[in-house]
Amino acid sequence: MTDLLRNTQEQLGKVTKHLNLPNELLNILRVPERIIEVNFPVKMDDGSVKVFKGFRSQHNRTRGPYKGGIRFHAGVSRKEVMALSMWMTWKCAVVDIPFGGGKGGVIVDPKKLSQPELERLSRGYIRAVAPLIGEKIDIPAPDVNTNSQVMAWMRDEYEKVVGRKAPGIVTGKPVGLGGSLGREEATGRGGLYVLAELARKLKIKNQKLKIAIQGFGNVGYWFACLAQEAGFKVVAVSDSRGGSRMENGKWRMEEVLKHKKKTGSVSKFPSSTPITNSQLLITNCDVLVPAALENVIDAKNAKNIQAKIILELANGPVTPEADRILAKKKVVVMPDVLANAGGVTVSYFEWRQNLSGERWSERKVNRKLKELMVRAFEQVWGVMQKKQLDGRTAAYVLAVERVVKAMSAKISQAPR
Ligand code: NAD
Repeated sequence: MTDLLRNTQEQLGKVTKHLNLPNELLNILRVPERIIEVNFPVKMDDGSVKVFKGFRSQHNRTRGPYKGGIRFHAGVSRKEVMALSMWMTWKCAVVDIPFGGGKGGVIVDPKKLSQPELERLSRGYIRAVAPLIGEKIDIPAPDVNTNSQVMAWMRDEYEKVVGRKAPGIVTGKPVGLGGSLGREEATGRGGLYVLAELARKLKIKNQKLKIAIQGFGNVGYWFACLAQEAGFKVVAVSDSRGGSRMENGKWRMEEVLKHKKKTGSVSKFPSSTPITNSQLLITNCDVLVPAALENVIDAKNAKNIQAKIILELANGPVTPEADRILAKKKVVVMPDVLANAGGVTVSYFEWRQNLSGERWSERKVNRKLKELMVRAFEQVWGVMQKKQLDGRTAAYVLAVERVVKAMSAKISQAPR
């Protein structure tokens, strides 16, 4: 996982060439402002007590409270959360919402825990980091292997610790417990808006674009459903156990989900052709949508990718080496910090509803999501055209400039 931090720092370094940045500000941004490491006990079902290690990385809060998910995964590391928290700073700046970047994680394989153990782990983690987070300090959310149920436990535990209601302490909660309508589909929906705007700019009709999607979890599934609804042709899907290809794209995604629930995978879906995960990445399509894990498109497979557009719904799916190969092949990459920002955008709407006590309709949430995503796309596109940059560098230029401007404004006003 060390690579991910190196990638984020390399990406930041690349941007400096296009911005006249003072080195001292850049040095501040290369590392998180604070990294919390916690070791907390959890009582297991057999009566034993296990100590788990977790992290919370708070990268930058110049533009607002730290914001970012918590993942439960055996591969979580200090460097991974550091990298992911930096990405959150850029993502919030690209869509121009008033948050900074944060990220958390616990080293655990949640599949090995019972439901009561998972609940005690979730509560234990939030108790451990409680003194350093808050509704206006640092607001966690779901990420890999955490969901609305985990957020419900975390909100409840945090409120017990502080002795008052704090609905805005986490986002991605169940709708009945302060969650926002439209949050579940938000990342896929935001990605769809970005793709639809890009197709418009490139003057290609949605119907002409064949899409292959890696990952069929929250993000991949909703993106697949919404892309079909918008007229795109989804020709291949996959998950960790394999994939399926259907040339005519005429599958009902709810049926694919049912099949996955029944058999454990989207592969071997009736009337489809089985493909492996590595084949999916190089399969014949116009748009490749990585929606699973980081670093899946690398120097080895990038040269064989047939897609002309990559829409990064996962965080960090393309390595810097692959980025260079794709640029030479003139593949248009819509970067994660823009393409998957729909999730944090609706998390922001949820937080606003929690702080004001309002309830927004789903229609209002989707309308405002579209407004912010289209605006961000237009701004990134504008930088791409003006400075002749690829999508990732343009998004970073926009984001880093916004963060640096905010930092500079504070510094110049501070009494010396
Ligand atoms: P999820 O756990 O719901 O789903 C992940 C999916 O990826 C599953 O279908 C899993 O089978 C599949 N997968 C795992 N390993 C794979 C492999 N080797 N090859 C192919 N597929 C594999 O997670 P999610 O919430 O959908 O998140 C997916 C990605 O999107 C992550 O990178 C996450 O950080 C990012 N993301 C999520 C959100 C959100 O709102 N959930 C927001 C922004 C970014």
